[in-house]
Amino acid sequence: MSAEKQKITLLGTGTCQLQEHRTSSSVLVELEDVLFVYDIGRGTTLRLAALDLKQDDIQYIVLSHFHPDHVSDLVPLLHASCWSRTDPRSKDLHIYGPMGLEVQIMRLMSLFGPDELKRDTFNVFLHEIREDRFTIGKRNFSFVHLPPVNNRGLKFEANGKQYAFTGDSNFHQQEIDFLKGVDFAVVDAGHPTDDEVVQLAVETQVPTMILSHLYRETDEGEIRQKARHLGYKGELIVGKDLMSFKIGS
Ligand SMILES: [Zn+2]
Repeated sequence: MSAEKQKITLLGTGTCQLQEHRTSSSVLVELEDVLFVYDIGRGTTLRLAALDLKQDDIQYIVLSHFHPDHVSDLVPLLHASCWSRTDPRSKDLHIYGPMGLEVQIMRLMSLFGPDELKRDTFNVFLHEIREDRFTIGKRNFSFVHLPPVNNRGLKFEANGKQYAFTGDSNFHQQEIDFLKGVDFAVVDAGHPTDDEVVQLAVETQVPTMILSHLYRETDEGEIRQKARHLGYKGELIVGKDLMSFKIGS
């Protein structure tokens, strides 16, 4: 992938709520050196199919935490890896996540019996992240605890800019600290109130802040106006599934 084609695509901007237009949490990141998915909630695999991505295109998945709306499409992904007649997997899959990853994924895979989600043609490697950082190849990622659940926000640099995703996060000082200095963020705007989202924008001044994990439909015009009124200089965008953003632009 060339530097100009690097991008971030919102695969799912919803929650556990069953909505056709918002599938559960997932962000696709296509960088020069690596393509990965951050979270893989309900509906993610259909969004990947809509983008014509194949099994072997997805070699890296990062999980923020183990709530079903962030992990449940691992099952259809792995099932298709093994049993799809048009697109079986031949490359290994690496899954990164917080402590507890190994037990949780092994439990998930054992639910269906030994042959349903596993094949000899590829391996699934589980990477439990003990520290607040990890690498994929030569690229560094920060992996920072953002309460209330055992949730990890992800942060990385690309083309000299800082990108961050919060997973599930309440509004608190850790989240403000995590987002300071970031150029582009996809944030959980469903657990905090609109006023807290505005406050987050004002205090961090992240130039482009995408609102995701939406339980309610937020009025973009209204929330932008509120934020501007309180001194926010960036742009708030209410995320929609399959919205795409060029990296470095
Ligand atoms: Zn969630």
